[in-house]
Amino acid sequence: MTIRTGMGYDVHRLTPNRPLILGGVQIPHTHGLDGHSDADVLTHAIMDALLGAIGKGDIGQHFPDTNAAYKNAVSLTMLKAVAQILSTESWTISNIDATIVAQSPKLAPYRTQMIKNIAKTLGIHEDAVNIKATTEEGLGFTGTGQGMAAHAVCLVYK
Ligand SMILES: [Zn+2]
Repeated sequence: MTIRTGMGYDVHRLTPNRPLILGGVQIPHTHGLDGHSDADVLTHAIMDALLGAIGKGDIGQHFPDTNAAYKNAVSLTMLKAVAQILSTESWTISNIDATIVAQSPKLAPYRTQMIKNIAKTLGIHEDAVNIKATTEEGLGFTGTGQGMAAHAVCLVYK
């Protein structure tokens, strides 16, 4: 058996004129994340972890922000395309662990739905997806509310 691990990291700027979408869940908040697609920072970090694990570069290569097709694109749809790349190459996802870094809002009420969305999109069990959220204690760009970050790691095998 071949086992591979991957990591992903993503950051998006917060702006008043956008919906906040994390893990495919629209979360009520004063600000949303800015970006070419729906700027779902959690889903992007997970996509990068999966692509990294199988040696397929990053989301910028697969879904370039110079391509109008990805303007306001739903990131779960892009995640589905990443799942297709894995399955084409016979990779199975063992697990995904991710952390969202955001000062506000409280994300715990939305975590179950985020897990459901990610697991369903990837066709894996919900217990193979773990999503955590933390603040950075008011420090740095996440602490001051300038942006949000997400980290993800995954294990895949074939
Ligand atoms: Zn992103």
